[in-house]
Amino acid sequence: MTDSCLFCRIASGALPAHKLYEDEAILAFLDLHPIRAGHALVIPKAHYPWFEDLPETLATRITGCAQRLARRMKTLYSVERVALFYTGIHVAHAHAHVVPMFHPHDVTSQAYMAEGVDSYAMPPQLPAAEMQDIASQLRPT
Ligand SMILES: [Zn+2]
Repeated sequence: MTDSCLFCRIASGALPAHKLYEDEAILAFLDLHPIRAGHALVIPKAHYPWFEDLPETLATRITGCAQRLARRMKTLYSVERVALFYTGIHVAHAHAHVVPMFHPHDVTSQAYMAEGVDSYAMPPQLPAAEMQDIASQLRPT
């Protein structure tokens, strides 16, 4: 763990998160700036900066958790597909994004490409009560 790493602090419990799943090696929680409601992150508890640094067994474990979340999202939100991707843009602690896709361009940059680099803005945060509702729906039953 590094004190300066946001996701290490969430993994250790030093910072709060809307947790969806946790075991000794991984943690899934809601993204604070969701592309779509239900947008989740799955991280290793140990600090690995980039996804390609992950031991294969840990990467597989993260993917398995994302698959379970995706199946839950399809049931809850009636979406045809769920996106899974790593970008490493905001926090250099490997994290998989799991996003229910309500529109085929939810995780592409069609608007960004049309409007230019400077048009990009973080998606807004949702109210805490709504985040708690979403988290309780996505947790395994
Ligand atoms: Zn970290």
